[in-house]
Amino acid sequence: MSEKRVVYLDNNATTMVAPEVVDVMLPFFTEKYGNPSSMHTFGGEVDEHVEAARRQVAALLGASPEEILFTSCGTESDSTAVLSALRACPEKRHIVTSKVEHPAIKSLAENLEMFTGRRYRVTALPVDRDGMIDLAEYERVLTDDTAIVSVMWANNETGNIYPVEKMAAIAKARGILFHTDAVQAVGKVAINLAELDIDYLSMSGHKLHAPKGVGALYVRKSTPFVPFMAGGHQEGGRRGGTENVASIIGFGKACELAGAHMAEENTRVKAMRDRLEEGLLASIPRSMRNGSKENRLPNTTNISFEYVEGEAILLHMNLYNICASSGSACTSGSLEPSHVLRAMGVPLTAAHGSVRFSLSIYNTEEDIDYVLAKMPGIIDTLRQLSPFWEK
Ligand code: PLP
Repeated sequence: MSEKRVVYLDNNATTMVAPEVVDVMLPFFTEKYGNPSSMHTFGGEVDEHVEAARRQVAALLGASPEEILFTSCGTESDSTAVLSALRACPEKRHIVTSKVEHPAIKSLAENLEMFTGRRYRVTALPVDRDGMIDLAEYERVLTDDTAIVSVMWANNETGNIYPVEKMAAIAKARGILFHTDAVQAVGKVAINLAELDIDYLSMSGHKLHAPKGVGALYVRKSTPFVPFMAGGHQEGGRRGGTENVASIIGFGKACELAGAHMAEENTRVKAMRDRLEEGLLASIPRSMRNGSKENRLPNTTNISFEYVEGEAILLHMNLYNICASSGSACTSGSLEPSHVLRAMGVPLTAAHGSVRFSLSIYNTEEDIDYVLAKMPGIIDTLRQLSPFWEK
């Protein structure tokens, strides 16, 4: 393989926009640029395409189109859901979440606790060494004061999948609203919201081969909703702001493709991920997987290489045009080990040297061969420089 070619194994950070998605988007920049809210036919036709995209998103989730609200990103969907629940139940002041949430929920919960004069109390559920949540502990922390539970469907760093179906049923039995950040799960895990007790579900286009800057929030029909962005009457009055039409059209197409590719994610992509993981663990001493072996997304592996810094590993990988992450994209750049690995009790010597490899259907066996050939040398070179590594 040419050393110029980029081997992209950072699909939990963002994905390539699928060529089919680009194709359906292009006419909405140049030919069909009307405002979907306009009275004229030129705009009205665009609205029909927005509604078709809504049906495509709903179909992937087993939801009704009226239950889908377009947003600008996963972060907006997360904030909209949690703040909506809190405004809908003003008498309740307790929020339950987990210690491994993405900053979109973690920082929101911390801000709600700290910057509202402690109006809200947050319980962040601990996780075990594999990163899993204890359901008995979850039931114990729920109280009559709990307004909302927000627990992710799948973790962006380890790929761990959480039992949100069960957790939502437990919340419902207690009269508590349930939100899940499914930004990493949608398209990789089969979801049928019609059969579940989930009230709100967040997703984001750029994690499933749609562009950056478009997301969606599912709000169950019977669930209370208070808009986050007040403004015009767009999205049935639930989110003000002229729609990001071309991206919404692309997002709809990406959801259709994600449904069609789900089996491939769980067979071909998973097999490549497993070959990568097994190859790295076998060829590099003092390396370990972080997270559950079975209970996780098919595309993700998080591996710690002890006694080396994740940032240094990424810089060396970059020299070979191999893209991956240490921690989530939002936290890389900081030398703090990831809050997810710390919550799992990963020793510091290993947490510092963690790398997340996340694949997509666009990866090939050749990509995996290339990474398996380069990684042992990269880690060895760095270890020879480490004062802590016994040579
Ligand atoms: N939630 C999870 C689990 C994520 O992985 C991400 C992005 O990495 C987000 C939320 C935020 O999504 P967005 O980048 O669309 O705001």
